Amino acid sequence: MKYQVYARHNLHKIPSYGRLSREQIHNIKIVSEVLPFKTNNYVVNELIDWDNYQDDPMFILNFPQKAMLKAAQFNTLAEMTGNNGSKTDLAKYVHEIRLNLNPHPAGQLEHNVPMLKGKTLTGIQHKYRETMLFFPTQGQTCHAYCTFCFRWPQFTGLSELKFAMKQAHLVVSYLRENPSISDILFTGGDPMVMKADVLEKYFQAILDADLPQLKTIRIGSKTLSFWPYRYLTDPDAGKVLDLFRKINDRGIHLAFMAHINHPKELSTNAVHEAVHLIRGTGAQIRTQSPLLRHINNDPVIWEQMWRKQVDMGMVPYYMFVARDTGAQSYFGVTLKDAHHIFNTAYQKVSGICRTVKGPSMSAGPGKVRIVGITEIHNEKVFVLEFLQGRNSEWVGKPFFAKYNPAAMWLDELTPALGQPHFFYEPEYLKLLKIDKLPGHTLKTDDKLYA
Ligand SMILES: *Cc1c(COP(=O)(O)O)cnc(C)c1O
Ligand code: SF4
Repeated sequence: MKYQVYARHNLHKIPSYGRLSREQIHNIKIVSEVLPFKTNNYVVNELIDWDNYQDDPMFILNFPQKAMLKAAQFNTLAEMTGNNGSKTDLAKYVHEIRLNLNPHPAGQLEHNVPMLKGKTLTGIQHKYRETMLFFPTQGQTCHAYCTFCFRWPQFTGLSELKFAMKQAHLVVSYLRENPSISDILFTGGDPMVMKADVLEKYFQAILDADLPQLKTIRIGSKTLSFWPYRYLTDPDAGKVLDLFRKINDRGIHLAFMAHINHPKELSTNAVHEAVHLIRGTGAQIRTQSPLLRHINNDPVIWEQMWRKQVDMGMVPYYMFVARDTGAQSYFGVTLKDAHHIFNTAYQKVSGICRTVKGPSMSAGPGKVRIVGITEIHNEKVFVLEFLQGRNSEWVGKPFFAKYNPAAMWLDELTPALGQPHFFYEPEYLKLLKIDKLPGHTLKTDDKLYA
């Protein structure tokens, strides 16, 4: 299958273009000034239900919607893009909205970029002891863009925020200096947009280094949903699969972290074949997704998704709470609802599907999961725990926040049961070398969608 990309400039080339209303076309053009817009022939022809596209999760996942911006922003943009608007004014305004949508929330740039021999390594993030993230330069784009995605800097040229690094040898040096790292996670964008030759350079350098500590190479990718032909008909599909096999044959676990938002993404022949081929290399596929209003905020969707994934031989891994960046007023779900949706679905499936963890917030101090809602001495509380922490000793200790049905993120929660602060906060402040948290606890941090 030939990959055909559709964006703003060739929207009219989409086979189903005639079905879009004039208003939709106008909205897409306006909103895509701010949110990057890119889709492709697989998504358009095999995933979107054009009979019902206005409410179709696959349509909303790729096509910018009017309500993703504030009404005032939308109207101003519409005026500016009209006949006489100045291009520089427009660019300025777009930049302003983007910064407000918070592309790199507090903490990520300053606190997770590691040092090697006195130099900062901008293509690496190392937050949790065992796992290092690597952003290969050539993998900072995707086969299509999710409208909820916060990784715009990589796509839209806010270059001062760009995380990217070329040299595989720096990765290897960093791994050598940090023997606690057992997992390297290739992320992006989508690393699987890279050609097999480029992937091979990175993987080969890691294999050649022969690091006894390194147990797992993870690849975070949305290709199963957005371009399964990557493994079927792309010219280098066979070579990609051979590379996967090679890693596994060397005794390093290849963990393919598939980003899947909706059961529809698991419905085509192409995705079934791709999963079959990837699993055939010895790789294991784990799945993760944020919980998103308008896309998957229904327990039945998660129940179906987890069951289907297990049927296909994949392992459900994470449900994330949508972080407070991007069009969060459009996609956001309260913590109370997130817990309800997770638990309702979790109760319906067999133990085989209950490998999934969540709902989890990737916040400054770590990945915090909502364990439950209960009452202790007549006080209604959220029970929380760390799934990952800046200090791994924080993991698995229950702690309590006052029940707040409107809260959507950790920084909106306050300690329950008369506690002055959450147990981890004094140490967290010391780790960050700051003395006061903005808001109750530091704002959202990096989060892995893909
Ligand atoms: C989630 C995450 C990881 C991986 O955590 P696991 O629980 O091992 O999957 C690593 N680094 C960062 C920054 C993360 O957010
Ligand atoms: S969520 Fe992942 S696949 Fe989607 S646009 Fe963002 S980086 Fe790309």
